[in-house]
Amino acid sequence: MSAVSLEAATQLKTELYYQAQGNEVTLFEYANQHQLPVLIKGPTGCGKTRFVTHMAKKLHKPLYTVSCHDDLTAADLVGRHLIGPDGTYWQDGPLTKAVREGGICYLDEVVEARKDTTVVLHPLADDRRILPLERTGELIEAAPDFMLVVSYNPGYQNLLKGMKPSTRQRFVALRFEYPTMELEQEILIKEAGAAPNLAFKLVELAQALRRLEQNDLDEVASTRLLIYAAKMMSSGMNPLDVCRCCLAEPLSDDPETIKALMDVARIYF
Ligand code: ADP
Repeated sequence: MSAVSLEAATQLKTELYYQAQGNEVTLFEYANQHQLPVLIKGPTGCGKTRFVTHMAKKLHKPLYTVSCHDDLTAADLVGRHLIGPDGTYWQDGPLTKAVREGGICYLDEVVEARKDTTVVLHPLADDRRILPLERTGELIEAAPDFMLVVSYNPGYQNLLKGMKPSTRQRFVALRFEYPTMELEQEILIKEAGAAPNLAFKLVELAQALRRLEQNDLDEVASTRLLIYAAKMMSSGMNPLDVCRCCLAEPLSDDPETIKALMDVARIYF
C-alpha cells in the first residue's frame, strides 16, 4: 500500500485555538450549510490546516486529512481490496469514509496529486455529490454532512501544476495570507505562550524578513516558524541561536543568504 500521510478521523475532544483573520469562519459555515466544497489557497504555515481542524471541531464532523503527493493514486483516496485471513476484502480509503460518515475530507497540497487522481473528486464536488467506486461497482451518495476541502500553496506551484479550471471552478475559494502584525502577535502569545514584548519583536522581525522575499528567498518566514522561535526563546534559549535554527536555516541553504537573514535578526535581538 502506498504511503498516504493520513491523520484518520481526527475527532478532537478539546477546543482548538484558532485566531480568525477575517470572515473565513462564517464563509466556511455558509459553504457547509449549502453543501459546497471549499478550496483554501495560501502560503505554507499560515494556518490553513489549523483552520480546517478548528472548523471540523466546530461543526462536529470527523476529519480525514490526506497530504497529497505525486504518487498518490485514486485508490489511496477511495480504497482498495486487501487480502486477509478470509480472502480479499474491501477497505474504504479516507475519502470514502468521509463520504459515508458525513465528515470532512481535507486534501492538503492537492496540486501535488496527479490529475487522474483528482478526477475522482469531480462528481463529489458538484451538485451530484456522488462517489462511484469502480472496483466494487458501488455508487455512494454522500451523507448530508460530507464536505470536501482542498488546499494548496500558490507560491511554489508551476503553471503546469495548477489545478485544472474544471476542478477549481467546483469550489468556493478562500485566500489566506500571513496574519496582520496584531493577529500574529496574538497567535504567538496564545499558541506559544510568548510574553507580549517577545511576540512583538518576533513579529517585527518576521515583517522585515518577509520584505526580503523578492530578492533572496523562495519562501518567507511562516507563522509556524515564528511559533517555534517563540517557544524556544521563551524557554530560555539564546535568541540569536534561535533565530539561526528556527528562522534563517529553515529558509535557505545559501550561506550568504543566511548571513543576510542573521544581519536582520541582530537588529531585533
Ligand atoms: P498550513 O496548513 O497553512 O501550512 P498550519 O495550519 O499547519 O499551516 O499552521 C502552522 C501553525 O501555525 C499551526 O500549527 C498553529 O500553531 C499556527 N497558526 C497559524 N495560523 C494560526 C491561527 N490563525 N490561529 C492559531 N494558530 C495558528
